[in-house]
Amino acid sequence: MSKISNQFAAIIKAKIKKYAKTQKQEQHDEGCVVSVNDGIVIVSGLDNAMLNEIVKFENGSFGMVLNLEANCVGVVMLGNYTNIKENSRVIRTRQTISVPVGDNLLGRIINALGFPQDGLSNIKYKIKMPIEKIAPNVMMRETVSRPLETGILSIDSMFPIGKGQRELIIGDRQTGKTTLAIDTIINQKGKNVKCIYVAIGQKESSVVQIYQTLKKAKAMEYTTIVNAPASDLPALIYIAPYTGTTIAEYWLNRGEDVLIVYDDLTKHAINYRTLSLLLRRPPGREAYPGDVFYLHSRLLERSCQLNKKNKGGSITALPIIETQIGDISAYIPTNVISITDGQLFMVTSMFNAGQRPAIDPGLSVSRVGSSAQRSYVKQTASTLKLDLARYNELRSFSQFGSDLDDETKQILNHGERIMALIKQAPNKPYEEIAEVLILFAIKNRIIDYIPLNLINNFKDEMLEYFIKQKNVKELSKKQTLDGKLTAALLKEMQQFTLKFIKKIPNYDSKQYGDIAKLK
Ligand code: ATP
Ligand code: MG
Repeated sequence: MSKISNQFAAIIKAKIKKYAKTQKQEQHDEGCVVSVNDGIVIVSGLDNAMLNEIVKFENGSFGMVLNLEANCVGVVMLGNYTNIKENSRVIRTRQTISVPVGDNLLGRIINALGFPQDGLSNIKYKIKMPIEKIAPNVMMRETVSRPLETGILSIDSMFPIGKGQRELIIGDRQTGKTTLAIDTIINQKGKNVKCIYVAIGQKESSVVQIYQTLKKAKAMEYTTIVNAPASDLPALIYIAPYTGTTIAEYWLNRGEDVLIVYDDLTKHAINYRTLSLLLRRPPGREAYPGDVFYLHSRLLERSCQLNKKNKGGSITALPIIETQIGDISAYIPTNVISITDGQLFMVTSMFNAGQRPAIDPGLSVSRVGSSAQRSYVKQTASTLKLDLARYNELRSFSQFGSDLDDETKQILNHGERIMALIKQAPNKPYEEIAEVLILFAIKNRIIDYIPLNLINNFKDEMLEYFIKQKNVKELSKKQTLDGKLTAALLKEMQQFTLKFIKKIPNYDSKQYGDIAKLK
């Protein structure tokens, strides 16, 4: 008898224990609002809430837990918070933020939560993925080895970008940063690279303009725009780059190549600083919170080239940073420079002087891309950087002296022509073979025979003539210049140049070098 009663007692005890546990859990799954301030809600009672967990408010809005403290949690609002009152109920959802991913997002503008912003139909999706994820580890990665063509001559030749690389575009306002990124997206047409443009804290009007540019270039077919405009809630601006990366990771995991542009991370950092100060986190240097480095490093580490075992996909990232009067040693610029694999430094003075894209050849670098450069680009671009460095050095001297020796004159002439040739209008990327032809003419000093004011006419005519040539077709197939091909191409180009020169009235052959060498 006592045995049975003991058994009953045990069952009842277990039931009570379980009941107490669920009661306790329910208690901790529901909290109440302590205060509401600028989109930040302090909630008490959510003892078990997780970092980045979504919580639901009585008015139907959602928020994200960003601060965990002893007696309360700090929640940033993801929706309307005007009618949230003190003491109103808050419920845990036990979920972190996840966004829809997949091919249906191509051609669309979405907000940071994945909802359409373009006034078109709802987006059908099968999968949602959490926006925070640990980056692939070293064993899953491979070194950068395939080029990502930007179609911008100065970048592809001197600062080549490889698939899986992170190349920072940095410069003051209005120096053509966004244009570089958009041109790179346009140039991915037909190259099997999906693109994501994340607009962070920008004007809606600029985003519309970018959408129209991409649409006109038929680039929206393979592009998604994640838009978190300046008017959005700070929490949405904060998660936007992670949303973009998550969408990119879906394709990465399927072995595809993705290009992602973060425009720009300065605004992202400033927005995060605002959030952190409102959450009363201690301010550090320039009032940024202590983890602002981690904010961007955990984002950019997710861009990578995966190895064959992991399907070999890649995410190439072009983060953009805006500087104040060219100061790249400020806090956020130095952080992002140290996280990325190189930077394209845009200079206001060059931009204003009409030398656009205004990429500083001295301060810009690409630390990993050169191993990804195709052989014929590498061969023809080999002397370019040095030529430009010598030109820039002598240019400042030559301003004072009037009598220059022949060698100096030649370096200056050559440099001036290179500078004219690397000017490039927006939204007009070059095909790779066209770049190789221009670089070939530069390397073999063909351009030195052409008067500076005619250099672009020469380039246009030369490209038009050569692209159809047999040798050039062979070159674009082989993608490398052997001795025979080089000699044949050089001869052909010399003859073309001679013909071009003959058409120029009053051509002063002494000024430009010995024409006999062209024969
Ligand atoms: P912001 O700081 O406002 O974001 P930004 O640095 O992104 O500016 P863009 O918006 O790309 O600069 O360009 C500024 C202006 O310069 C635009 O009107 C653009 O058309 C023009 N521009 C950019 N690149 C070139 C170029 N290569 N040739 C001629 N004009 C250009
Ligand atoms: Mg811009």
